[in-house]
Formats: sequence, C-alpha cells, structure tokens
Amino acid sequence: MIPYGRQDVSEEDIREVVDVLRSDWITQGPAVENFEAAVAAYCNVPYAVAVSSGTAALHLACRALGLGPGDILWTSTNTFVASANCALYCGASVDFVDIDPRTYALSVESLETKLRDAQRRGALPKVVVPVHFAGQSCQMSEIRTLSEQYGFKIIEDAAHAIGGSYRNERIGNCKFSDLTVFSFHPVKVITTGEGGMVVTRDRLLYQQLMLLRSHGVTRDANGMTRKPEGSWYYEQVDLGYNYRITDIQAALGVSQMRRIEAFVRRRRELAQRYDRALQQLPVICPWQHPDVASAYHLYPIRIDPTRCQSSRARVFGAMRAAGIGVNVHYIPVHTQPYYQRLGFRPGTFPQAEKYYEQCMSLPLFATLSEADQDRVIRSLGEALG
Ligand SMILES: *Cc1c(COP(=O)(O)O)cnc(C)c1O
Repeated sequence: MIPYGRQDVSEEDIREVVDVLRSDWITQGPAVENFEAAVAAYCNVPYAVAVSSGTAALHLACRALGLGPGDILWTSTNTFVASANCALYCGASVDFVDIDPRTYALSVESLETKLRDAQRRGALPKVVVPVHFAGQSCQMSEIRTLSEQYGFKIIEDAAHAIGGSYRNERIGNCKFSDLTVFSFHPVKVITTGEGGMVVTRDRLLYQQLMLLRSHGVTRDANGMTRKPEGSWYYEQVDLGYNYRITDIQAALGVSQMRRIEAFVRRRRELAQRYDRALQQLPVICPWQHPDVASAYHLYPIRIDPTRCQSSRARVFGAMRAAGIGVNVHYIPVHTQPYYQRLGFRPGTFPQAEKYYEQCMSLPLFATLSEADQDRVIRSLGEALG
C-alpha cells in the first residue's frame, strides 16, 4: 500500500537520536531548546515552546489566552477534531465557520457574516482558530482586520503548514495572529514521532506557555508569590500539565529542520506533477490563492460530479483495492457524534459538507517516488472509469 503520508527519517536523523540516548539528558535537556531555537529562527518569530503533540500545543495556546468557561472559540469545520476539542478542554464552548469553496479553509465572508450576527446576539468568540488546510495559509490579513473590529484573539492551526508562506513570509511569524501551533506527527511536513510547538511574538504569552507546559510550576523567583526558602524551592502558581516533549524527540526535530526546505520543495514538485497529470481527469485539483505558497501537507482532490458518474465512495474503494492509501480530509467536525450530542446538526455548514462528499487526499510525502506517483495517477484514471 502506498500511504497518503509518511515520514522521511535519514541515517543522520537516527544518529542524532542515538547520541541523545547515550547522553545525560533524555528529557528536559538541551535538545529541546535547540529545537525551539531552530523553529523560531526558521519562522522569524522570537518565542517557541515545544510540547508533546499538536493537540497539547492547541490546548496550551487556548489556556495562555485565558480561554475558559463562558468563552467561545470558533474554528473551521473542515479540520481534525483537535482544532475544536482544545476549547472544550478549557471549559469553553465551540462553534464552527463554513469553508471557502476554493481553498477549503475557513471562509472570511462566512466569518464576517457570523461575527455580525454574533455581535447582535452578544455572543462573540474570544478566540478564532484559522486552520491552514492542506498547508495553505488562510487569508490572515483579512482575519486580522476582523479581529481588531470584533475583539477576538487568533491562534493559527498550522499543523499542516510549517514550511508554507503567506505574502512571502513564513507561516509561524505571527504577524497576523497571537499564536501559531505546529504538529510533528509522522504524516506532517517534519516529524518528532509525536510532538508539537507553539510560537508567538508576545513575551507574556510565552511565559504562560512555559509555565503551563510543566505543571504550572516555576523555579523563577520573579514568578513566585513567596520568597524562595532555598535553592530547592519551587512554586505551583497555576494548574498546568506535563506536556513536555523528550530530548529524544527534539533531537529528531532538530535534524529534520535541517531538511525542511528540501521536504517542502519535493512536496511542491510532486503537487505540480499531480496538477499536470490530472488535467484530463474528471477531478478538481487544489486551487492555490495567489498570496500563498503551500507546504502541501495534503493533496486533496474533488471528484467532479458533473463529469464523473462514480461516487467518491466507489472511487475511494477502487483506489484502496489497487493498493493506494487514499484518505479523506475531513469529515466535518460538527457532524461527529460527540458534536451532535452538543447540539450541532448536519446541513448547517453546506460548503464543508459538500466538499466532504467529494474529497479524497492522494498520497503526498517527500519520499514518494515518481514511479509510485505515476501508479497513483494510473490507478486514479482507472478508478474514475
Ligand atoms: C495533526 C493535526 C492536529 C493535531 O496534531 P497532533 O500532533 O496529532 O496532536 C491539529 N490540527 C490539525 C489541523 C491537524 O492536522
């Protein structure tokens, strides 16, 4: 089976990890800071906090902004469930925004309409989480303008998008947001096995993230309520978590960061090869906004019902039977049983629901060979009939 995504771990990566295993620190050592420094430098952002997963990164970002009971977080419904769950972890509530039918990411028009309505009802969100779907940045300048008008904070969910850029600057620079989060799960652009990161330009948010990552415990006298009783002394000043990443993982991250440009370049080349090869087929290739350069975590196509008799389910089944590990990104979060229990109903976000009916992600990862990609393309031609 050719998977839809997979890691590229080199001998050099393995050596770096083994070196950590032989060192004094397999967690809470220097590799974590090196990894944070590498990502911060790459994204041109002053502060980075590495954590155990992208989900932990989202949760910490919400906590750092003070999201809590009575607050509301909005995100795109075409995303992984973690983009919404982070609000519920904080005791806040969630609502969704429909997608732009061209980019499949949060629609700025839908956001604006919904904000106007929410203002009338006195139910504005405290936080909006634009998800850079498939690796393509959302329209951050417009979202930022709305945040100033309506007073919400912005967390960019860039789990798909490290290595991508918006208006010629790297995603993660936080010039249009309060915080940006990354995931380093093996299918993403770089990996640490499990892992995530939060980046920000705001020193106070950075201090909150550092505190909450490790139990809400501080050893810094400046953050304490009492005078240190001795050099052993620490204080728990908030309710945090153990969301630390290990040095074993961070060493892999540092090593992967050295190759990120090559990873993204390869993903873009393969995406362009798909763009060209699929022109004759009854599918819609992912459209690129002129302001963005995608990191191409995903290559999501749509089966065009006006030109193809077969349903997505049939094409999907035929691809899997041919050994092609296609996938679907995403089942709209508001249609998940858990969210249905919270009162969400199908039919409320029609663009995301229509997209879901037609979408299918083709294999795309840095080590995908052109021969294997050609096999994907041939199988797709046959599966479409
Ligand atoms: C992968 C992903 C996450 C969660 O990241 P983990 O590292 O798996 O916890 C969050 N949001 C989106 C959009 C993702 O794709």
